[in-house]
Amino acid sequence: MVFSRAVFLKELARQQTWDVIIIGGGATGLGIAVDAASRGYRTLLLEQSDFAKGTSSRSTKLVHGGVRYLAQGNVSLVYEALHERDLLLKNAPHLVHDQEFIIPCYHWFSKLFYLVGLTFYDLLAGRSAFPKSTSLNAAQVSQAIPGLSTAKLIGGVSYRDGQFNDSRLAINLAQTAAEHGAVLLNYVKVCALEKTAAGVMSGVLAEDMETGQRYQLLATTIINATGVFVDEVLKMDVPNARPLVKPSQGAHVVLDQSFLQGNVALMIPKTTDGRVLFAVPWHGKVLVGTTDTPVDGQALEPKPLAVEIDFILKTAGQYLVKKPVLEDVLSSFAGLRPLAAPSDDKHATKEISRSHKVIVSDSGLITIIGGKWTTYRKMAEDTLDRAIRLKQLRPSDCVTEGLRIHGSVGGYETGDFAPYGSDASKIRAMIQARPGFEHPVYSGLPMLVGEVVWMLREEMARTVEDVLARRSRLLFIDAAAAGKLAPGIAQIMASELGRDTNWIEEQLRSFGLLVQQYLLRYEEKKDESVPVEPGN
Ligand SMILES: Cc1cc2nc3c(=O)[nH]c(=O)nc-3n(C[C@H](O)[C@H](O)[C@H](O)COP(=O)(O)OP(=O)(O)OC[C@H]3O[C@@H](n4cnc5c(N)ncnc54)[C@H](O)[C@@H]3O)c2cc1C
Repeated sequence: MVFSRAVFLKELARQQTWDVIIIGGGATGLGIAVDAASRGYRTLLLEQSDFAKGTSSRSTKLVHGGVRYLAQGNVSLVYEALHERDLLLKNAPHLVHDQEFIIPCYHWFSKLFYLVGLTFYDLLAGRSAFPKSTSLNAAQVSQAIPGLSTAKLIGGVSYRDGQFNDSRLAINLAQTAAEHGAVLLNYVKVCALEKTAAGVMSGVLAEDMETGQRYQLLATTIINATGVFVDEVLKMDVPNARPLVKPSQGAHVVLDQSFLQGNVALMIPKTTDGRVLFAVPWHGKVLVGTTDTPVDGQALEPKPLAVEIDFILKTAGQYLVKKPVLEDVLSSFAGLRPLAAPSDDKHATKEISRSHKVIVSDSGLITIIGGKWTTYRKMAEDTLDRAIRLKQLRPSDCVTEGLRIHGSVGGYETGDFAPYGSDASKIRAMIQARPGFEHPVYSGLPMLVGEVVWMLREEMARTVEDVLARRSRLLFIDAAAAGKLAPGIAQIMASELGRDTNWIEEQLRSFGLLVQQYLLRYEEKKDESVPVEPGN
């Protein structure tokens, strides 16, 4: 399998006509690339930044049906997502695992309520690989979650969902698509759409963000899978197009494991103001979130708001023995949900459906909005089936239900290289073959020189941030540690990619700013009063 930016750029210069061009390299676009390539279509995906730079690296990392959506009565969404949950566990077992969650209960009525609800959740899941929910007494709950405050606790309900590594799944989806013949490029932005004289969508104008080189590319099907940016692309088609997306921000903080010892996640189904909050063990730390804040506009690097961080820390503190404060935050990040905008403005973002919608413009441009990481495969299937029904593509069946995702084929790995799945043995062999590759980039931190080289040669990492935020997750797990690794990584990258000292300086400057943001060290930390809505 070739997964090389240089090779793919040559392909772009050579081949101008495609069956499918996908704009956007998040979960949605990458899922469509896998589906399209595996159906045999000539497929091109263009991402303006890095794969999963947008929302798709900023999720709560749950492969789930969505207990909250069940409470809202959205049974069909939960049913669909529970089915996809099992497919993801089967097709990407190196990145998805079964995670136990406990809802602590302080009243018999609420325990009964959650037990009944989660039994229904299990029923909807059908013959699932995930174990069923169980009722727990107070002693069992406090044994399973040693960090939980036990005052007035009467018991709890244990249930299961999946946990996954979102940005690594994105990279592996890109590699899977490439294995089936797709061409995928990060740092290539679609700047304009091209139409025939009859107004039919016929191609895109794209720019390589590294060199400024422009490409005119033709396709019978053009898919707008740009998440919260879909309206920008729609405006390239119809300048006064009605906005389709209402972005909603969700923030998370990462804390030391001492706040929630053990392997069991805590689910708080109804906080003081009606929200859902998770505290989930993640890479030896605890991920806590999230919020649901309507925002205007889009950003690739949204900032968590002070009110969001305060809410998360205070709510977690009500349930944990060790109360977290701002100084305990190892990293914090926010993402924007690409929710389908309602036709009126009366709905709060928590009420907007998380289901996906496929929309076809008069020009034939296909736009996909909404959905969840968990349902990316079904979203892709629906999008391409629609293109076939529109006769933009020749008929071909979807095969992704049984398609193994890159990394899952072959033996499963444990240890430091486990997230690479079946690539782990190749990384180990590469490290053994080259003296120096076995050295840590920074003494005491878990990243080897050879691992970085692997990310550059085999996973299309182009910047220090690509390495530290999405190939490894260190920026999200422990931003200060990521900052320590950055100079060493920039040096390795410069020699591998042939970059000069100016490039190194610029990389360290921009990554340094990002570290400050993830550590919540920015000016407007305390002065916002944006209303925060209930929900997850
Ligand atoms: C806080 C939060 C928590 C969540 N938690 C979960 C969870 O636990 N489980 C779950 O299943 N789902 C979760 N979700 C939902 C899930 O993360 C999203 O539905 C999903 O990541 C959206 O993916 P996307 O590809 O549509 O958007 P994105 O990931 O944002 O991708 C869109 C891409 O398009 C690119 N782009 C934009 N314009 C252009 C252009 N002109 N040219 C080229 N590229 C362009 C952008 O750079 C971006 O990378 C969560 C969402 C949020 C916000």
